[in-house]
Amino acid sequence: MTDDQGSKKGLEIVRTVADLRQVVSSWHKDGLSVGLVPTMGALHAGHLALIEQSVNAMDRTVATLFVNPKQFGPNEDLDTYPRDEDGDRDKLSVAGTDLLFAPSADEMYARGNSTGVSVAGLGDILEGEFRPGFFDGVATVVAKLLIQAGADTAYFGEKDYQQLLVIRRLARDLDIPTVIEGVAIVRADDGLALSSRNAYLSDEERRIAPALHQTLLGAAEKAGAGEDVAGIEAWAHTQLLDAGFTSVDYLTVRDAETLEAYGALGKDRPARVLAAAKLGSTRLIDNIPAE
Ligand code: AMP
Repeated sequence: MTDDQGSKKGLEIVRTVADLRQVVSSWHKDGLSVGLVPTMGALHAGHLALIEQSVNAMDRTVATLFVNPKQFGPNEDLDTYPRDEDGDRDKLSVAGTDLLFAPSADEMYARGNSTGVSVAGLGDILEGEFRPGFFDGVATVVAKLLIQAGADTAYFGEKDYQQLLVIRRLARDLDIPTVIEGVAIVRADDGLALSSRNAYLSDEERRIAPALHQTLLGAAEKAGAGEDVAGIEAWAHTQLLDAGFTSVDYLTVRDAETLEAYGALGKDRPARVLAAAKLGSTRLIDNIPAE
């Protein structure tokens, strides 16, 4: 927020789209650039890296906090998803966030709403295959947040790499002018990618969890050495199960821009190794570039 001299005033909280729009348009009227960081809360250093990037690059930063019911399947963890709005507010404030948009589900989804955004193809594979409807829920809420906020740039983590590509695609296809920026994954010292869902892990599971990153590193090395993808996938599945993972949804090497089969568009293109695996009842995802 700005006072009459244009200096920053600390974290303000709004809960309606009308208030969000009013604050952002007053900033734009003052010639200030605005960054947007959408989150589901339970904030950790990964989220705060997005905030930091926005605070450094933009005059004002808006964070959003909304646990989006449309992106949870019927047997997923919507009710138990970690929530800590007070803690989140403190962290956002310390990080230099100017505005928190924390709407209710009724504010986001008017009664009788029936419009959704679906990113065909890119949204149907990998995560889309194992979590049917997930990317429709993500694409719908992110399109709404981008339109509601009207920010100049929005920041999303590479932690959710496929989600980042889905969001880039929907912003382009729907002519939403906000620039979409990807931010590198923040990891714990042992390599585990930070995630709100890591809070579900028991001590024993937390000890096993870094094997996911280790296996991605091994797979990337094999891809770099020219090994075929089927062989890499088989090796990685065994590695993860031997380490103590309960099941593996996928660990594969894909074209980094389209997520199509690696090599289908030529082997000189960048590749990405992506994985999703279960540790007990907790599902972890991670990815790294395959150089
Ligand atoms: P979530 O609250 O899980 O929906 O995440 C909100 C945003 O933070 C998304 O753009 C995520 O990709 C990003 N994010 C979550 N964890 C990390 C991490 N460890 N490193 C970088 N970005 C992250």
